[in-house]
Amino acid sequence: MKIGCPTEIKAQEFRVGITPEAAAEAVAHGHEVLIQAGAGDGAGFTDDDYTAQGARILPDAEAVFEEAEMIVKVKEPQASERKMLRRGQILFTYLHLAPDPEQTRDLIASGATCIAYETVTDDRGGLPLLAPMSEVAGRLAPQMGAWTLQKANGGRGVLMGGVPGVFPARVVVIGGGIVGTNAARVAAGMGADVAVLDRSLARLRTLDEVYRGTFKTVYASRAATAELVTEADMVIGAVLVPGAAAPKLVSRDQLSGMKPGAALVDVAIDQGGCFETSKATTHQDPIYEVDGIMHYCVANMPGAVARSSTLALGNATMPYMLALADKGWRTACQDDPNLLNGLNVHDGKLTYYAVGRALGIDV
Ligand code: NAD
Repeated sequence: MKIGCPTEIKAQEFRVGITPEAAAEAVAHGHEVLIQAGAGDGAGFTDDDYTAQGARILPDAEAVFEEAEMIVKVKEPQASERKMLRRGQILFTYLHLAPDPEQTRDLIASGATCIAYETVTDDRGGLPLLAPMSEVAGRLAPQMGAWTLQKANGGRGVLMGGVPGVFPARVVVIGGGIVGTNAARVAAGMGADVAVLDRSLARLRTLDEVYRGTFKTVYASRAATAELVTEADMVIGAVLVPGAAAPKLVSRDQLSGMKPGAALVDVAIDQGGCFETSKATTHQDPIYEVDGIMHYCVANMPGAVARSSTLALGNATMPYMLALADKGWRTACQDDPNLLNGLNVHDGKLTYYAVGRALGIDV
């Protein structure tokens, strides 16, 4: 199969859909890999890195969309890209169609077969193509929070690990899922005093067993959450209620009871945020202050570490990309119900029930 990878054109997107390693695997499976010139630049991969693995470089997106039988990307196709999709072509990328009627309409009109990373499942009910980005955002959160805490950035001027004779920073992580666990691990690794709050006792038990006191676990009652937030130098919001906007767990009123210059890092901002005062920010202008409390609310945190994120995403998508190319989408999806769950649009029809319900379109 001819597998094509265009340069990402969404603002602030530096990742690329196919890594040179993934290109090498596809070539070894007998496929042709077509990369748009410069597609890997943002993630630190040169055209030569791709040609060294047997890929072919094409001059522009038009050439890639025209020749490729499957397009592999990172972000949902933008309007100009959607116009280039055609019936019978496979699109494999993040789509997030539920809040995006315009894109959904265009993909249906294209006739292409569109498989969304975010709805591919695994045997344990997880989302294997979302998990790597949660891992990245989680590990990045204490790093960005530590920067936010620096005095010059408006923060409290507290060092994560403290020094001998001086307390380390107190970090509270709300939500102990993939983001929260990775955030807690890194914050504890930086020497901070870390507590993780979750509403799931089963989750807290697992964290307690696996991490054996590296960080504390606390049941996320309203009272416990309020008390820990008041004492914190940094609060990391990492909750998820599937299919719903993030619950607001810290109100504006509570900010006045917090330590001046404390940092709120709202990783859940892509689901609306879990602090009342959160609003989405960008990598260019990531932090702002409300009532003396510094907020970091970047909605696409993995973009800050585009190379690591690209490699992490590439590792996760590669087996599915190879299955689609080796077997064709129909057999690949028949053989793997988890991959079939990724199918959102096919041959002029929406095929994903939750998107249809959200947008009022027949499935
Ligand atoms: P997850 O499902 O693995 O974990 C969420 C956890 O939140 C669960 O353990 C759940 O029990 C807990 N929870 C739910 N309600 C709670 C409450 N009221 N109090 C305490 N805990 C509660 O999800 P995840 O993959 O860790 O993702 C977390 C959030 O991070 C999501 O909103 C996700 O979209 C977001 N995210 C953001 C970025 C970014 O760049 N900003 C990147 C990746 C993920």
